[in-house]
Amino acid sequence: MNFSTFLAAAALATFPCEGTVAETLLCADGEVAIESADRALSLRVCSVVERARPLLNACHLYQSSPIVLQVGDHGTSLIHGCMGTYDPKTETIRVSDPGTLTDIVSAETFMGRMSAEKLFESLVVHELSHGFLKQTAEQRALCLVDHEYTAYAIQLSWLDAQEPGAVDRLLGDIKDKDVSYLNDFIALAAPDLFAKAVWAHFSASENGCAFIGQLVSGHASLYRESN
Ligand SMILES: [Zn+2]
Repeated sequence: MNFSTFLAAAALATFPCEGTVAETLLCADGEVAIESADRALSLRVCSVVERARPLLNACHLYQSSPIVLQVGDHGTSLIHGCMGTYDPKTETIRVSDPGTLTDIVSAETFMGRMSAEKLFESLVVHELSHGFLKQTAEQRALCLVDHEYTAYAIQLSWLDAQEPGAVDRLLGDIKDKDVSYLNDFIALAAPDLFAKAVWAHFSASENGCAFIGQLVSGHASLYRESN
């Protein structure tokens, strides 16, 4: 399905943002469309998508269908504390804009220790990872812990690629035993603990993108170890 067919099929509506109307910008790759009332922000998101794609591909994650990425003030429509979402049925990502994020993010978390701009870009990468993982795994529905592991691993890799050492500074001391926190409950209830667990596991030389490849192909899952 090409993008114009997809747009028609999805009957995408614009959404209001403080009196302005979102416009759609198709990124140069022709595979991701940004809906935002702020054109400069849309161009920035396209740049993030372009730079994140090699990182995703290196971890065996590919895009096979168009994705729509809506940026706006989702503070009241997203679940409290949730700064981004990915809907696999409509292939739609929603991320709160940088101005809204500062009101939502908890200052106690590693995400709260980032600037709103860096946080915003890393959330785009996090949600793109969910989308690429779902599209690459095709019919196989991966469980929550495998999905969140992948999204956090790519998000943290992105942060580290932008600024070497950033993850260590944001997450603090990481110990081997942190990998015991790789489960659904911690992923939802304690994102900082989960992020530490992901980084402890993902940064081990035997894991990394090879492990994500195994999650994608179904040769590995964190599910049994955590439930
Ligand atoms: Zn996620």
